[in-house]
Amino acid sequence: MPELPEVETVRCNLAATLRELRVTSVCFRRRDILRPDPRTGSDAIDLAIRKTCGSRVRDIDRLGKNLILKMNGAWGWIVHLGMSGTLVHGCAPPEDVHAHVAWWLEDGSTLVFRDPRRFGGWTLAEYAPIREVLRDRVGIDALDPALNLARFRDLLSPSITPIKCRLLDQRLVAGLGNIYADEILFAAGIDPRSPSCALDHASWERLFREMHRVLEGAVCRRGTTLSDYRDGWGGMGSYHACLAVYGKEGEDCPRCGNPIHRMSFRGRGTHFCPRCQQFAKGR
Ligand SMILES: [Zn+2]
Repeated sequence: MPELPEVETVRCNLAATLRELRVTSVCFRRRDILRPDPRTGSDAIDLAIRKTCGSRVRDIDRLGKNLILKMNGAWGWIVHLGMSGTLVHGCAPPEDVHAHVAWWLEDGSTLVFRDPRRFGGWTLAEYAPIREVLRDRVGIDALDPALNLARFRDLLSPSITPIKCRLLDQRLVAGLGNIYADEILFAAGIDPRSPSCALDHASWERLFREMHRVLEGAVCRRGTTLSDYRDGWGGMGSYHACLAVYGKEGEDCPRCGNPIHRMSFRGRGTHFCPRCQQFAKGR
C-alpha cells in the first residue's frame, strides 16, 4: 500500500489543483526522506530547497507506484509513498510529527507529505527525462496502453517463479502490490503459487483482462483505504467494499462459498480460494 489505483488517484487530485502553482517556501524536516539521485548520488538538502523554492509545478505524472512532480525547468521530484505515505494538497498546516515534507504555495495552500512508517522517499531528479532515473528499477506501467497481452506474457512468463511474485516485481510490470495481485489472481481463477511458465494462453488472457478490470475499477473508486491511505485531497478510497479475497480469511468465497484461505507465501500474506483458483502445472 498504496498501489497503482491509490497513486493514480493522488496524481489526478494533484494535477487538478496543484498545477501551475509557485512554491514559496519548503521544509524537509527529516533528511532521511531524501533519497540520492541514483545517477549523481546527490541528496543535498540545501540543493533540494534551493531548486524547489520559487519554481512552479508544471505537471504531475506517474509510473507504477511512483508520483513524478514535474517542475518548470525540466527537473522534478519522484515521490514514493512507501507503506503509509500520503501526499495531500489542502489548507492544513503541517503540524504533526509524521509530516516530513511541507511546501507552501503562492495561493496560501500547502502540500504535505506524511509517512508514519517512513518507507517512502523523495528523489530529486535533476535532468530530463525524469523517467530515465526510474528506468533501472521500474518496468512498464500496468495500465500503459503500450502494454498488450503479448508483451505482458513475454515479460512475465519465462520463469518458474510463482506468478504472484512475477506480478509484484516492479521491474517487469509496475504498479501492483499485495492487495491487487491477490484480487487479480482470484478474478482470473489462478493459484498464486503457479509457476509463471506453466500458465496456458487462456490463463494469460484472463490475467491480463482481469488486471485491467480490477485496476480500472479501483481507480474509479479512488483506491482502497484500509488504514493510512488518503487521496491527494485527504479523502478516503472506497474500493475496500469490492474486495473479494484480500483480508477475507475465513469468509465465504463470493464465487463458491468455501472459506477464503490465507497463507504466508514468500513473506507476503496471500489470500485465495483453493477451490476456484487452479494451480497451473503446465505440460
Ligand atoms: Zn471459491
